[in-house]
Amino acid sequence: MILNNVRKALTGQQVSIRVNNGKIAQVLPGNFYDQTDELNLSFDDAIVFPGLINSHDHLDFNLFPPLAGRTFKNYTEWGVYIHVKYKDTIDSILQIPEVLRMQWGIYKNLLCGVTTMVNHGKKIKVTNDLVTVFQECQSIHSVHFEKRWRFALNNPLKKNLPAVMHCGEGTDGLASNEIDRLIRSNLFSRPIVAVHGVAMNEEQAKQFKALVWCPESNYFLLDKTAPINHLKNHLPILFGTDSTLTGDWNIWNHIRKARQTGFLCDRELFESLTINPADVWGLNTGKIEEDQDADLVVSKAGSFFTTDPQNILLVLHKGYVSLFDETLFPQLKTINTSEYSAINIGGSNKYVKGNIQELITKIKQFYPNVSFPLV
Ligand SMILES: [Zn+2]
Repeated sequence: MILNNVRKALTGQQVSIRVNNGKIAQVLPGNFYDQTDELNLSFDDAIVFPGLINSHDHLDFNLFPPLAGRTFKNYTEWGVYIHVKYKDTIDSILQIPEVLRMQWGIYKNLLCGVTTMVNHGKKIKVTNDLVTVFQECQSIHSVHFEKRWRFALNNPLKKNLPAVMHCGEGTDGLASNEIDRLIRSNLFSRPIVAVHGVAMNEEQAKQFKALVWCPESNYFLLDKTAPINHLKNHLPILFGTDSTLTGDWNIWNHIRKARQTGFLCDRELFESLTINPADVWGLNTGKIEEDQDADLVVSKAGSFFTTDPQNILLVLHKGYVSLFDETLFPQLKTINTSEYSAINIGGSNKYVKGNIQELITKIKQFYPNVSFPLV
């Protein structure tokens, strides 16, 4: 497959990209003129960027609406509050089988151009090739919500895996103290990827492998986010959405909220979704370079930061088309449309791999009130 005439996001460099065997085979300035019988897609005024890497989500929690109603001092206070105030909603949604909730979580990400997501929770069996669900790490919930967290952290059988933990999610003493407790309890200097770190200071940051920044979730719960402008000097910053329990389904709104803080420059923010997580998680993606996995997104938005699901023209995952806009139909003559579902998102018609309509129907059989951002 060849993607002709696309501009690299951020640099604006005009390139054409040849994809072969799931990898980026060639990146050339200008067009490929020696067109063979390969699938050739030509674009007009479109940008290309690596498929986004969402470093923190709970794939099974994305049928929840945002639940809060007020600001909290820390995540334990929030957790207790919502289980009382929103008990009926929570019980209803948890009746939906986990496998269906997970599948929706994958689509939530894919519709936005996320091709790799790090799921927090127990290992899941992924039965499709739409995206990469990264699971080569150990999820430990948090100091206060996982009873045997010290044992899990110091388990010698897991010592080579990064531990991923919610940490410092709050604005009070509980949140900052739990970071110190976690550092002190890491007996074998296990690499820990912290999630949130709202209460984290620069000295504490030095003890972690990386920090996943989830600004939308932080502002929603705490009306404050991590001091990323300082912490970024001490560890890699990765971007995460968390689930819809604490924010919008659309990662692009999270990215714009992050940009408004000014804590990262545009390049740094872009890298928190691409090369930083690729490096920390050990992925062969995140760059538009030869021999990288062909995880690519083409968008007709004016710039990377104005992208939205309706602007996305094409999502490739390891060279396979996971999503395409209907305007590409004439150029995708060889594609087997029976493998795709037609949807409308934000007024724009797309084709998404798999039977998303059947998934929505099944989910609604368990909980008719759930709403989806597509028709
Ligand atoms: Zn989380």
